Amino acid sequence: MTEVRLALNAMATRFEVVLHGDNESRLRGAGEAALAEVESLEARLSLYRPPSEIARVNMLAAREPVRVSPQVFQLLQQARRLQMETGGAFDITVAPLVRCWGFMRNAGRVPEPAEIAEARSLVGMEHVILDPQNCSVRFDRDGMMMDLGAIGKGHAIDCAAEILREAGVDGALLHGGTSTIYGIGSPPSAEGWKIAIGPVPGHPAPQFTVVLRDSALSVSAVWGRCFEAGGRKYGHVIDPRTGWPVNNAIQSAVVLPSATESDALSTALLVTGLEGHDAIYRLRPEMRSMVMAPAEDAFRVKSKGIAV
Ligand code: ADP
Ligand code: MG
Repeated sequence: MTEVRLALNAMATRFEVVLHGDNESRLRGAGEAALAEVESLEARLSLYRPPSEIARVNMLAAREPVRVSPQVFQLLQQARRLQMETGGAFDITVAPLVRCWGFMRNAGRVPEPAEIAEARSLVGMEHVILDPQNCSVRFDRDGMMMDLGAIGKGHAIDCAAEILREAGVDGALLHGGTSTIYGIGSPPSAEGWKIAIGPVPGHPAPQFTVVLRDSALSVSAVWGRCFEAGGRKYGHVIDPRTGWPVNNAIQSAVVLPSATESDALSTALLVTGLEGHDAIYRLRPEMRSMVMAPAEDAFRVKSKGIAV
């Protein structure tokens, strides 16, 4: 039994894959193909890459229907379904708000109420017309923009895992920036891949562990990409319904068979907080979930299937 480790910088983070098996060159080939798929998806999905399909949609879709590849079209349809299922907590059209709060230039700041209201009027998947006949996308107003930041890494992990499986790999762990992690099969002589969900920096928070076996874990949090103003921390996950960065939860985690869905739903769970936990949890029968919110002296946690 040998182990092969590979890594790639993509989607503004680091992807890593660990493969187990008995043929080193086959493992290496499969791992390289999986990471090449991540790179190719970045080139199609990133709003920061001018020739990407999403950048083209953002530039032109307010004027005319913009054709995209069937794969990207399906991802947009899935994002629309998730937006409806989460009551708008997850919404890829959140981009004008992400920009308004300074997260696109890494220069966070609290905007004027009028700016927030203006950006909010440009957010909402219901303003996106998806035409399945032509695989085209149209915005019903000027200034709209898509940001696949909360679903793209998960989708890339799903596609990469599929490539590994097709190559006959039956034991591997892959992750994108540690925020979405997928376990194929299990490591030698273990029931699955045991993953710890890190503690909250600067807080005496509880530690969680999950075991992944042909399933994905996604974690969303307020820290990481965030800024401080007036004694408050503002993180890069924004509630599309209020226009404000998430304030009532600090960390969330979702385990599901699909990394695309765990990525989107962990972001949604961070937005809804403790209050929305049960509704999110009920969306998928296989789900394991956890959400943590600050309380007076420590933390409050709601979880199903994820143990402290
Ligand atoms: P990470 O990037 O650390 O994995 P998430 O999966 O939670 O974290 O994605 C956060 C990113 O998604 C933000 O940087 C932003 O680009 C985008 N985003 C922010 N708020 C939302 C939201 N409510 N719905 C969908 N996407 C969001
Ligand atoms: Mg996410």
